[in-house]
Amino acid sequence: MCESYILKCCCGAQRAELFFGKMLLDQTSVKQLFCPECSKGIEKLHSGMVWDNGWVLELNMDIINTYSSTFSVDSSELTAGWIFDSGYVTWVGITPNDGERRNRERQEILQLAQTDVLAYFQAMKEWGQKREKQFSKEGWRKMHS
Ligand SMILES: [Zn+2]
Repeated sequence: MCESYILKCCCGAQRAELFFGKMLLDQTSVKQLFCPECSKGIEKLHSGMVWDNGWVLELNMDIINTYSSTFSVDSSELTAGWIFDSGYVTWVGITPNDGERRNRERQEILQLAQTDVLAYFQAMKEWGQKREKQFSKEGWRKMHS
């Protein structure tokens, strides 16, 4: 996870942890981030924006288009949504701030392993299922792809 990058949203209230998959793009391909609060000011999404549960990530399509020969997709279909869903620029976890939370929660469960291995495995399993249920109920983009 050495490729992660923390980005603040436009109103400054929240931040997201981004991951650049497949060692291709980096933070220069990201323009700005809108949390569910500041995204309310956006009138219309364009193809350089990807929407996820109220969050909007705007990518720099000029930079991304210079890589278009690398993506086996027609340039007319090369959108921020495609980049996000393909994992080139995406959240570290399932949600914008899942990365830190996931590590913290996992760390707590990990302490169980020192005293009760069976309880630890059980807790890990339940934790994973609970997360999955919650995220899919909330409707995050990664739960559909
Ligand atoms: Zn904001």
